[in-house]
Amino acid sequence: MKTKILLVDDETDLEDLFSKRFRREINANEYEFVFVHDGLEALNTLEQQPDIDLILSDINMPGMDGLSLLAKLPDINPMVRAVMVTAYGDMDNIRTAMNLGAFDFLTKPINFNDLQLTIEKTRRYVNQLRETAELKAVDEMKTRFFANITHELRTPLTMIVSPVDKLLETPDLPTPYQQHLTLVQRNARQLLRLINQLLDINKLEAQQMDLVNEVGDLPGFIGQIVDLFRPSADIKNLALTFQTDMSPGNYLFDAGKWEKILYNLLSNAIKFTPAGSITVSLQQTATGVRLIVRDTGIGIPADKIVHVFDRFYQIDNARARAYEGTGIGLALVKELTSRLGGTIRVESQADSTGERSGTEFVLEIPVQLVSGYVDAQPVAAPTLVVDPPSTPTGIEPSFHPKSSDQAALVLVVEDNAELREFIVAELATSYRIRAAANGYEGWILAKEELPDVIISDLMMPRMDGYALIDRLRTDLATDHIPVMLLTASLEPDSRLKGLEYGADEYLTKPFHVGELRLRLRNLLSRQQKLRDHYRQQLAQPDTTETSETVQDQFLRRLYQLVEQRLDDSTLSVEWLADQMAMSRKTLYLKVHNLTHLPPNELIRQYRLRKAIDLLRLGHNASETAYMVGFESPSYFTKVFREFYQQTPTDYVKR
Ligand code: ATP
Ligand code: MG
Repeated sequence: MKTKILLVDDETDLEDLFSKRFRREINANEYEFVFVHDGLEALNTLEQQPDIDLILSDINMPGMDGLSLLAKLPDINPMVRAVMVTAYGDMDNIRTAMNLGAFDFLTKPINFNDLQLTIEKTRRYVNQLRETAELKAVDEMKTRFFANITHELRTPLTMIVSPVDKLLETPDLPTPYQQHLTLVQRNARQLLRLINQLLDINKLEAQQMDLVNEVGDLPGFIGQIVDLFRPSADIKNLALTFQTDMSPGNYLFDAGKWEKILYNLLSNAIKFTPAGSITVSLQQTATGVRLIVRDTGIGIPADKIVHVFDRFYQIDNARARAYEGTGIGLALVKELTSRLGGTIRVESQADSTGERSGTEFVLEIPVQLVSGYVDAQPVAAPTLVVDPPSTPTGIEPSFHPKSSDQAALVLVVEDNAELREFIVAELATSYRIRAAANGYEGWILAKEELPDVIISDLMMPRMDGYALIDRLRTDLATDHIPVMLLTASLEPDSRLKGLEYGADEYLTKPFHVGELRLRLRNLLSRQQKLRDHYRQQLAQPDTTETSETVQDQFLRRLYQLVEQRLDDSTLSVEWLADQMAMSRKTLYLKVHNLTHLPPNELIRQYRLRKAIDLLRLGHNASETAYMVGFESPSYFTKVFREFYQQTPTDYVKR
């Protein structure tokens, strides 16, 4: 790479000297020299040629001297570095030059080897400076982009939230409309809240958030906020209490910021507390108030606690995350608290048994009690909207009157309660539905009911989609159930991995309901074809397929067992279930799932199919009847005729 050097000296013969000494470098395009004769000229050149890497400058020159040039450099080109050249022993000027920011100095007469080393060193340094500056510029651009995009998202989101709010006020809104609109409202609000928090945090970091002092009853205000969280606490059966030793009165405080702080601390407390209580207390201190939010939740492990105020930090960042959120709540709380001139600290006890665990956030914030008239806006009632947490996980059997008993049974496994309810509501008109909130519950339900198809999320607490498929595929009872995986597109290889595990279909979130329905129908019709195929194998006397060539390993095993006792008319479904290590119910469901036949009928048809083979081998009808386990030849003949539309004797004749 070429190094461009500006040589500033009033001695005109230097030009010649340098050109000769560095002829090789110049010819090889490694160095390029630009010659000027005083400081002023140097400044002009620097302005016109910003790609100059370094300056070699004399100190004493007529016109503008080297030291004055040096002093002006940061304004003209902050990246360029100067090496000063002066007489040996000119210590005063050298000291001044160094203090003005010269990078290095050389003395005359110039030692050219030394000069070249100095040029290289300076050049490397300038390169580093430029790289750092570039990185910084990129970083700033990203931040600006982030801020812009968040800002841009806010307007359209607001334009979703307000019309939906309006629509929801319509009297006598039909229930499905109300349900769907409520879903839109909740989700849009959640997005809007996230966007607002991101904007807030940006503003706080750029120190652009103003303090607004309002006057109002602080204890009363906090009591109101706590009350807004009561429905959420009730849903999770948590005791929520507010206590204060402060008397009502007029206080000066920034209500908006207090609201955001409490919103985050209380949402966290509710989110991370499976059982027990949450206490908010407010105490008067010498300089303001102390706010304590305490919960009996899961706690924060000691080694993680230092990070909880970091932006985007979440303790549980595993794929199978049990809690929703983005990890900006506490970062915002911390910034807001310090903007209010306060401090926050946290103490926590994490305990795997859940007996003594809990978390306590303690905030000390200056607040002023005022008496008499103050020139400040009165505090308005809190405006925040608290959506109760998604319904607690639990197996929710969802029946729908419209779908008949004949409809296919679909199991929906999804941890996000809203998405789950949405899918259930969408499919319930055409299918029978069961729903589970995580892979484990899904697995239990799948074994219990052997659904015709499973729609499963990938990332879920307790057991994720992969693990669920793995269990399904390694259990003889469930290995045939087709699975459609729902995944977020964030995980690029999840598709491949899902297919490896044995998923049959794949849908990327966000998905279109129409596509979901279509793919579901395809899966079910594939199942139906397989079912028809298995039944054909028995019903078509001319197929050559035998029990050994049946693809499904469950059916193969079942046929083998029937084969062992083919001539035994007492062979029972109980015995088969025993042999297959399944309950009778599971055996029934599995056989029905694969063939749409009850097990007894399957056995009977298998016997009839075997009878064909035996007749072909030359056995007569009554021999055959006993060999395939019929109690009497006449009954055998009757059943045979019903099934194949001809008598055994006719069949032999043909
Ligand atoms: P967000 O607030 O953006 O919705 P979040 O709640 O995960 O997401 P923060 O509020 O910043 O993020 O909290 C960071 C992490 O600290 C949480 O993910 C959780 O692991 C832990 N944490 C916060 N509050 C509590 C609490 N009361 N009990 C246990 N853990 C907590
Ligand atoms: Mg939070």
